[in-house]
Amino acid sequence: MSTTLHNSSTQEVVAELLRRPAFVMVSHVKPDGDTLGAGLALGIALKRMGKRVAYFQQDPVPRNLRFLPDAQFVSREIPGDFPPDTLFVFCDMSDPARAGEFLPTFTRENALDIDHHLGNLHFGAFNYVIDSECSTGTCVVRLLREMGVQIDQEIATCLLTTIMTDTGGFMHSNTTPEVLELSADLMRRGADKELITQEIFGNKRLAAMKLLGEVLAVATFTHDGRYAYSHVDDAMFARTGADGEDTEDMVNTLLYIEGVEVASLFKAYDGEIRVSLRSTGRVNVQAAAKRLGGGGHFRASGLTHVGDLPSAISAVHDALVAEGL
Ligand code: 5GP
Ligand code: MN
Repeated sequence: MSTTLHNSSTQEVVAELLRRPAFVMVSHVKPDGDTLGAGLALGIALKRMGKRVAYFQQDPVPRNLRFLPDAQFVSREIPGDFPPDTLFVFCDMSDPARAGEFLPTFTRENALDIDHHLGNLHFGAFNYVIDSECSTGTCVVRLLREMGVQIDQEIATCLLTTIMTDTGGFMHSNTTPEVLELSADLMRRGADKELITQEIFGNKRLAAMKLLGEVLAVATFTHDGRYAYSHVDDAMFARTGADGEDTEDMVNTLLYIEGVEVASLFKAYDGEIRVSLRSTGRVNVQAAAKRLGGGGHFRASGLTHVGDLPSAISAVHDALVAEGL
């Protein structure tokens, strides 16, 4: 197992969870089903144990995740009367900066970092970083098992959402036999796979599909078709009626094109350029993103570029070439 150094043990983390009276579950900006589902699963479990739990997320809950239990309690505000030893539980982020600038100040001693990303900074007093896990949610499963928590229907739905999000609906290479067995167990406990599939994968807005059409129409293919890249900008949003949430998994569509090994989508809106990178497995896009201040996983990573679109395209190209594109 490729567990990173300086991790806290499962027992240490569980002892801390039992000791603390209150928690702020923290998810990252542009949230996905893993960061939010992992925090909700652990938060619901802690509430059942009589603990106080708030869910901090800078961005609103995306349309396709509003079905998650407790999603209605997710907010930018943290209750003012939480005690000073409240534990901030960061889910699915290698760097606390990914929580956004609205996160209230916290101290390291009050931070637990639960994650499965390569290159996690281990920024908490407690770090539970297991990069062999398919999702942050499956890291949470280990904690729940150690705590002896009964995984009920709500918790199971949150956990299966983390798995289905981060395995791309059981398609990515992180879908091991163990992941499928755990998923079966979660379904038996009441996780609604049909609902998750429908909400996360089968509910695309027509505007999103029109945007996808534009993204494909302007896509560029280089390196004998092994590299595909495209972009999204405000003018495309205006023409199609789509918005940032609709771009969530578009980069995967570029990767699914025959012969493509690496795909990049440049999201040039809201005054910044966010880049999503995907690889079929030969080129390490986490390493490429890291060269430009980002990070993620071997086959899925991202970064924010400071500068204009042509300079972003060129910087990402050079980083990918340096990683063997
Ligand atoms: P996405 O393309 O879906 O936004 O991100 C793909 C993966 O890369 C996710 O696992 C995400 O957490 C990670 N990632 C995206 N952007 C950044 C970033 O700016 N910094 C770091 N460290 N990781 C990122
Ligand atoms: Mn994740």
